[in-house]
Amino acid sequence: QKAIAVMTSGGDAPGMNSNVRAIVRSAIFKGCRAFVVMEGYEGLVRGGPEYIKEFHWEDVRGWSAEGGTNIGTARCMEFKKREGRLLGAQHLIEAGVDALIVCGGDGSLTGADLFRSEWPSLIDELLKTNRISNEQFERMKHLNICGTVGSIDNDMSTTDATIGAYSALDRICKAIDYVEATANSHSRAFVVEVMGRNCGWLALLAGIATSADYIFIPEKPATSSEWQDQMCDIVSKHRSRGKRTTIVVVAEGAISADLTPISPGDVHKVLVDRLGLDTRITTLGHVQRGGTAVAYDRILATLQGLEAVNAVLESSPDTPSPLIAVNENKIVRKPLMESVKLTKAVAEAIQAKDFKRAMSLRDTEFIE
Ligand code: ATP
Repeated sequence: QKAIAVMTSGGDAPGMNSNVRAIVRSAIFKGCRAFVVMEGYEGLVRGGPEYIKEFHWEDVRGWSAEGGTNIGTARCMEFKKREGRLLGAQHLIEAGVDALIVCGGDGSLTGADLFRSEWPSLIDELLKTNRISNEQFERMKHLNICGTVGSIDNDMSTTDATIGAYSALDRICKAIDYVEATANSHSRAFVVEVMGRNCGWLALLAGIATSADYIFIPEKPATSSEWQDQMCDIVSKHRSRGKRTTIVVVAEGAISADLTPISPGDVHKVLVDRLGLDTRITTLGHVQRGGTAVAYDRILATLQGLEAVNAVLESSPDTPSPLIAVNENKIVRKPLMESVKLTKAVAEAIQAKDFKRAMSLRDTEFIE
């Protein structure tokens, strides 16, 4: 009987609980034992029944409607070192787990792929140092790994949506709607900073959905005189037509053409100094990732959880680890490491100011 474990890692995202629920139940439905690893890689490194727990059907009852991740998530520095991964391997083997599904962002999935590729040498060392028996060694010659992407940023290449992104987008839109009401009452301008790291997806879509006056995203930087002139022209035009509110959305990773960050404070200063607007800054912060998941994320996470279990049951030592993606509304498998590589290449291209390359990589399926 196979034993499939699931963990959530990196930043929490709404919908992770639906993903865990679907994986646990689908594993049990397919005749496997289901396990959860608590606190991400931290739980693997610590090991034992407190951190690697067998889960039953009832253990995930009602989880679809719950936000965050009930099995915990953490950033774990020890797992980045070989000794941490060696402990992780030992603890998985001791628990009798032979497949691991990781729901997280690109960092978590890089760790997962490294863990799998190192697995043969890890178990060799564990056997040689008598930390596992011959029998355990023979049983666990291969570790099946699969990734599902849980991240509010929607910054993973090869998938159209990450679990949690639409929930965060919905929360941001609601928050801007609230701000809009008070802005209208006082005829104020609001500069709203939203999350997304070096990806502008949340800011761009939130800005469009709330008809913001101006949006700053990392993918479209401008020199400071360009953006200042353009923003002031647009805002003045809207004001001259009787608009009492001004909403400017600034992505967390917004940068100007010389690669210096654009902060909400920079934008605030221009709106005050050049247009004389009564301006406030609203930083939405962790509200964006909190609360329950929207229906889309629950469904995406559930379908991807089912597919992740199918993928680990079908995978072999010769096939690359899969990542469960959604492409044009279909749940599909992609090679995990290719997706991570492509995601990193986009981030690097943005940092190197090569926006053309970043854009073309975002549209490309695979990187050579
Ligand atoms: P988010 O996009 O929400 O930040 P993430 O998965 O990218 O999520 P990270 O902090 O980058 O978040 O990674 C989470 C954990 O994954 C790390 O704390 C570490 O334990 C593990 N990890 C990340 N990168 C590696 C790596 N190169 N090798 C081994 N483990 C890694």
